[in-house]
Amino acid sequence: MAHPETLALIARIREEFPAFRIIPKAESRLNRAIHWALFAITLGGQRSYLTAYSTVLGDTLYTWAGWEQMTGEEQVILLRHEWVHLRQRRRYTTLGMAWLYLVPLFPLGLAYGRARIEWEAYAETLRATHELKGRAAARDPALKRQIVGRFTGPAYGWMWPFPRQVGRWYDQVLEELDGADAN
Ligand SMILES: [Zn+2]
Repeated sequence: MAHPETLALIARIREEFPAFRIIPKAESRLNRAIHWALFAITLGGQRSYLTAYSTVLGDTLYTWAGWEQMTGEEQVILLRHEWVHLRQRRRYTTLGMAWLYLVPLFPLGLAYGRARIEWEAYAETLRATHELKGRAAARDPALKRQIVGRFTGPAYGWMWPFPRQVGRWYDQVLEELDGADAN
């Protein structure tokens, strides 16, 4: 059963992106091919693309294996991250987005374009967490470890392996959230 807050947010996303749809990732042949490509180029470092990560390609959100078991709140936080990617694709075009995501500086190791694209989306993850689960949840060290690890580890091909810099981006967003609350 779909959660009402998830359905409400999907309706809002569809006002902006009428073709938006949600499909389980494991059912997508394209994503199964991407899974094996990522597995190969990260030398097995990324082995959970199909099961543990949700991905927007075109107007479609391909969901990770646990999507159906998430609470409505968690689904809304995830959707708000992916909504940022839909808007980025509109801003940069599909080709521009693919270029930013895959090319600069290197596809593996130092991928500044990919890191900036993901950073904008993870900032929204933090904003949504702060709004829906509260200030303490957004400041949970486990969440910080998880998100910083996505930049510095194999999940996205070691896209920005500088934990202190990513940590500073992270802390800056948290400060902005506190500033927004104070206003
Ligand atoms: Zn993302």
